[in-house]
Amino acid sequence: MANPKHLLITGVSSGFGRALAREALATGHHVVGTVRDAASAEAFQALVPGRAHARLLDVTDHDAIEPLVRGIEATIGPIDVLVNNAGYGHEGVMEESPLPQMRRQFDVNVFGAAAMMKAVLPHMRARRSGRILNITSMGGFITMPGIAYYCGSKFALEGISEALGKEVRHLGIHVTAVAPGSFRTDWAGRSMVRSPRSIGDYDVVFDPVRQRRMEVSGKQLGNPEKAAKAMLEIIESDDPPSHLVLGSDALALIRTKIADLQEELSRWEALTRSTDG
Ligand code: NAP
Repeated sequence: MANPKHLLITGVSSGFGRALAREALATGHHVVGTVRDAASAEAFQALVPGRAHARLLDVTDHDAIEPLVRGIEATIGPIDVLVNNAGYGHEGVMEESPLPQMRRQFDVNVFGAAAMMKAVLPHMRARRSGRILNITSMGGFITMPGIAYYCGSKFALEGISEALGKEVRHLGIHVTAVAPGSFRTDWAGRSMVRSPRSIGDYDVVFDPVRQRRMEVSGKQLGNPEKAAKAMLEIIESDDPPSHLVLGSDALALIRTKIADLQEELSRWEALTRSTDG
């Protein structure tokens, strides 16, 4: 291919990360993918020897990130695209879920992604070019009972992503928050951390949500390979969006949320305006 790029993707062992890496490799790009164990590293590099490079990283090891990025720049090539994909869902009623689980959720989904961005930015600024994709979620716009910590982390990443985009656009760096709906990955299966139930008062709002999520795991509407193609289109675009929603389920839920918010803003408009002056 004429202009192969170097993509750095966190979490390429399964799901979106794996699908995007495969698609990018098939297109002719180089991919550095992070994984958490030697067997996954070997399997990843075997995808396309010489163009698929694995690096071991737990994104909560924040001190390891800057040297890792520096090493990739020095030995493999300039990182044209960072994809902050590594993440997981914590499921549990907020009152029942211990605070350390919230810290862990933010450590991976927010601080890990922020540390990655801070590590690549000096290199991208020096080149006046770069792309950052942050995989957030429809849960970064809409909420439902039982995933308060997850939504909190994805709202945070949406906000950081949007603000950073405004800081670096004039430097030739584009930041896109990618918000998928429900996709057939390991997210609701092996990767999900589920807090045990303890307070009966929440049975009515939470139990049906947990049960439904377990039932549909593996049968969700979204196809990760199609998401990978959409993400590559964003990477190739001269004018990428600051937000990209993936999946008709996410689109419908987010549109409903915006309409509800507009209605609430109007209903309380007089009180809102009453504090000026
Ligand atoms: P997945 O198949 O479970 O993949 C998650 C990936 O993240 C795995 O490679 C996992 O590595 C890695 N990871 C998790 N914690 C990590 C850590 N501390 N350090 C480094 N890597 C870590 O699920 P997925 O759906 O593809 O998830 C990718 C992203 O999409 C996540 O940010 C998720 O929140 C988001 N998302 C998913 C959906 C959906 O419906 N699937 C919807 C919206 C957003 P290991 O194999 O080592 O665990």
